[in-house]
Amino acid sequence: MSTALEGRASSPGVAMADAFVVRKVQVDTEAEAAGTPEEEKERADAALEQVEESLVELAESKREDLGDEADIFLAHADFAGDPEIADMAHEQIDDGASAEAAVTAAFDSFRALLEKSADEYMAGRAADIDDVRDQVLAVLAGGGDAQVPTARSVVVAHELTPSQTARLPRELIAGVVCAAGSPTSHAAILSRSLGIPAVMGVVGLLDAVADGTPLAIDGSSGEVVVDPDDAEREEFSQRIKQEEALAERLAELVDEPGRTADDRHVELAANVNDEGTLDTLEGTGAEGAGLVRTELLFLEHDEPPSVEDQIAWYRKALEAFPGQRVVIRTMDIGADKPVPYIDLDEENPALGVRGLRLALDRRELLVDQLTALVRAGRDASPDAGRLAVMFPMVSRPDELDAALAVVDEVCAAEGAERPEMGVMIEVPSAALAARRFAQRVEFLSLGTNDLLQYLFAADRVLAGVAHLPDILDPDVLRLIRDVVEGAHAEDAWVGVCGESAADPVQAAAFVGLGMDELSMTPTGIGRVKDALRRVTSTQLAEAVEHAVAADGPETARKILTDAVEGATPDA
Ligand code: PEP
Ligand code: MG
Repeated sequence: MSTALEGRASSPGVAMADAFVVRKVQVDTEAEAAGTPEEEKERADAALEQVEESLVELAESKREDLGDEADIFLAHADFAGDPEIADMAHEQIDDGASAEAAVTAAFDSFRALLEKSADEYMAGRAADIDDVRDQVLAVLAGGGDAQVPTARSVVVAHELTPSQTARLPRELIAGVVCAAGSPTSHAAILSRSLGIPAVMGVVGLLDAVADGTPLAIDGSSGEVVVDPDDAEREEFSQRIKQEEALAERLAELVDEPGRTADDRHVELAANVNDEGTLDTLEGTGAEGAGLVRTELLFLEHDEPPSVEDQIAWYRKALEAFPGQRVVIRTMDIGADKPVPYIDLDEENPALGVRGLRLALDRRELLVDQLTALVRAGRDASPDAGRLAVMFPMVSRPDELDAALAVVDEVCAAEGAERPEMGVMIEVPSAALAARRFAQRVEFLSLGTNDLLQYLFAADRVLAGVAHLPDILDPDVLRLIRDVVEGAHAEDAWVGVCGESAADPVQAAAFVGLGMDELSMTPTGIGRVKDALRRVTSTQLAEAVEHAVAADGPETARKILTDAVEGATPDA
């Protein structure tokens, strides 16, 4: 009998194939050293070297597919080649440890050092170190080569490390399913850039699935069917056919603008997190960037980035969108994005000094960033994108006034025109004051990730409260309608740049509410474009009217889904 499991939808697409289970290498680190200390050191060194070399090769062989995201493997190779790790391992071996135990201890001490920094970015690096350690242990165990399937399979694992994901031969991977992880884990991000359907966080997965168990998965809904019966196979075959038809339609639409069936233009733009995102733009049909995050620049180093370093990144972002608008957001650091050089000891960081609050407190950082932005915009080549600048985490109009005053000062100093300016609406007070914000800037952009967190008092990274917020809650829809009306009353354009815009039904709701632009993970654009073209703006406006009056988000979702799926386009 089949078993239905559920996880987090992490990379869209449908797949049906047998499972290939990737197991963690089991190494006995308690066992006595088999060789002399010299022999154990040689084994450890050889394994470290082999892993270093194979990671450098992996980075080069994946560069075409992954672009700059392949650099992660060079960083991993650096760990394997780090002389400090080898020295630590040698010391352990001198004290009688086996190569396996010594390598484990060396990587673990290195990891502990990083973890002490207690920030999210460094904690991420700690997980990378485990990945490299496990590769070295696999070589010591005599395996060496990564576990890879030989026939087309759905890869199943507790969690896949970046190197495991990248080593999987693309042509044999029908899908990826993990017991742990979330849509933001490395394996999910890589699956999306490679276009592989993926479901993360599937409870009970490894108890229900063995090597060779037939699986059917849907990366858009998070469904995982173990050992599907005939009816389920038929159902998933239909979905696969629909996916294939969709892929063909999307390929034809790639150069078409976003529009509804009655030709209302809705700009469909890309959210850009880092340089890796720029490499995933091809074939997505993005009409510019609605949100370029700049936090990584500030998170990556022990000191703030120089104006020159910032200009280099902003220029790349502008050049990636020739002739289109590129909305670059000033640093949104603090809270879940802490930086090592700013000491914020807060009990409730999500409610603390973050985003624009921090930028106004640390004016020199804001001046540098705006200087870099204004110079990058001013000196951009004529075929680059057009700079627009947006502020995050703004709660009161007077904060925006203070920030705009800095913009004017910087523009005067640089002899540059003020760029198109906008503000994120991601705090309830800002949503309520949308019209007053719209009097001050050219555009508003709804940050639904934070707006939902604050509206429902539900931490956006805490799984235990993830069921509470819903963007299709009728009262939230009503609030968004007020934001759109406030913006339009002041001739400002208004868009959405939170994750919710990538869901076709939610995107349709936003268009029904009057949004001018939707910005999302680039690979989400095609599906939204396809959905919008099947329905008129009038049908969407009517559906939203009903949804706003519905008794809860489930009913609202049903009304909107019916509108999108049941529409018979007249254009
Ligand atoms: C948001 O909050 O919706 C948003 C787009 O910003 P971030 O996810 O970077 O906080
Ligand atoms: Mg936000």
